[in-house]
Amino acid sequence: DVRVRFCPSPTGTPHVGLIRTAMFNWAYARHTGGKMIFRIEDTDAARDTEESFDQIVEGMRWLHLDWDEGVEVGGPHGPYRQSERYDIYRDVIARLVESGHIYESFATGVEIEARNMSLGRDPKLGYDNYERDLTDEQKAAYRAEGRSPALRLRVPDTELSFDDLVRGKITFPVGSFSDFVVVRPNGHPLYPFVNPVDDALMGVTHVLRGEDLLSSTPRQIALYHALIDIGLTTFVPRFGHLPFVLGDKNKKMSKREPESNLFHHRDRGFIPEGLLNYLALLGWSISHDRDVFSIEELVAAFDVVNVNPNPARFDQKKAEAINGDHIRLLAAEDFAARIVPYLTAANVLSEPLSDDDRAILVQAAPLIQERIALLGEAPAMLGFLFVTADTLVIEADALKSLPQAAGEILAASGAALRAVPEEEWATDRVHTALNEVLLEGLALKPRVAFGPLRVAVSGRKVSPPLFESMEILGQVETLDRLDRLAN
Ligand code: GLU
Repeated sequence: DVRVRFCPSPTGTPHVGLIRTAMFNWAYARHTGGKMIFRIEDTDAARDTEESFDQIVEGMRWLHLDWDEGVEVGGPHGPYRQSERYDIYRDVIARLVESGHIYESFATGVEIEARNMSLGRDPKLGYDNYERDLTDEQKAAYRAEGRSPALRLRVPDTELSFDDLVRGKITFPVGSFSDFVVVRPNGHPLYPFVNPVDDALMGVTHVLRGEDLLSSTPRQIALYHALIDIGLTTFVPRFGHLPFVLGDKNKKMSKREPESNLFHHRDRGFIPEGLLNYLALLGWSISHDRDVFSIEELVAAFDVVNVNPNPARFDQKKAEAINGDHIRLLAAEDFAARIVPYLTAANVLSEPLSDDDRAILVQAAPLIQERIALLGEAPAMLGFLFVTADTLVIEADALKSLPQAAGEILAASGAALRAVPEEEWATDRVHTALNEVLLEGLALKPRVAFGPLRVAVSGRKVSPPLFESMEILGQVETLDRLDRLAN
């Protein structure tokens, strides 16, 4: 059975590339009926933070990317934070030392460089495995100098190749890497060790991760062979390296770019459905002629072998367009509920909502659901409905847009609307009355005629549909607003 894992290091805010990787793992688990494991790789005390851990969990929950084993939910292979697994690592290290797969190495970086120089080799070549067979006397001599050894894995002196699920066969020739450090002299185990050890202990079958980790894969496979030898596991997992997400200037999206932060998109009003859909397109597609799909369709169709190895550029405009399409797919009540947090954050509404506000919200939400790409557009679009004529702010550019005839238009419209009987106040009736007086009576073009009314009612040049807005505001409030702009 398929077992995949998401194993971020908790440094900084959740990066969209990281979340894309989490989602592909999740989709693969759900597609295959396998298990999704969520482990935290927090062995770097200097860089890891609880805040970052909380944010990654929050991001996963926001997107409804759930997991079967891992932090917060537990499972048979816990604990799921590496900082709580040092006893386990100590035991595995002892067994690998015992079996001769890892050995003590005292060489310092300076010594390795000097050795390469004296042998006439490129100093950058690194360690050449010369301490593989230190004698007990040599080790004792180093210890007598007060030196502590690092531990290195003895890697096979053969080429190493594997079939990447995304990239096909990848071969690392003999000598492309040397015996590498798995445990520091101070006893601290390193990523190239703890990551595969945990994958092995947790029964991970498919390692799907960013292509930045491709270079560590041959080392990890070498370690896997040692782990198989000591009976810790029976197989090497399959690997699939997912393409980079590119940002500005087609470079790998850096943490400094605001678009790299998952919460930047949430704050602007991406909905999980829209963002997941867009992130899935960073390296994958459901078919050549379709961009918009649901998470269920993603799960049904996703296979990691169809991921495209080429880097994918994060296209903000396209992401927004797809989000807008998903906004339109929401049921009306669902949409209304989802804009509430944005309206309260912008102080358009305050919670708990009054009955009046709720009634307006339910009427008004459908007017913008067809028009916005981000939920964050809702406050500017709907704010005018939750104020009164005396507190409505008329935007400067809206004022500037008023035509010469604005006074006349407002006065004539006011008179016509005042004549509408209160019980007949509704979109169509308002529309007819204004058509009669402005288009027929004054022979104005609709754009000229209705512009000043839009400014009077909403304070803006762009607003939800005008006559519907007037219906929601009611007759008295609408007339107040026309009077106020006229005077
Ligand atoms: N903790 C590692 C990272 O976030 C995980 C790498 C992996 O998936 O193997 O880069």
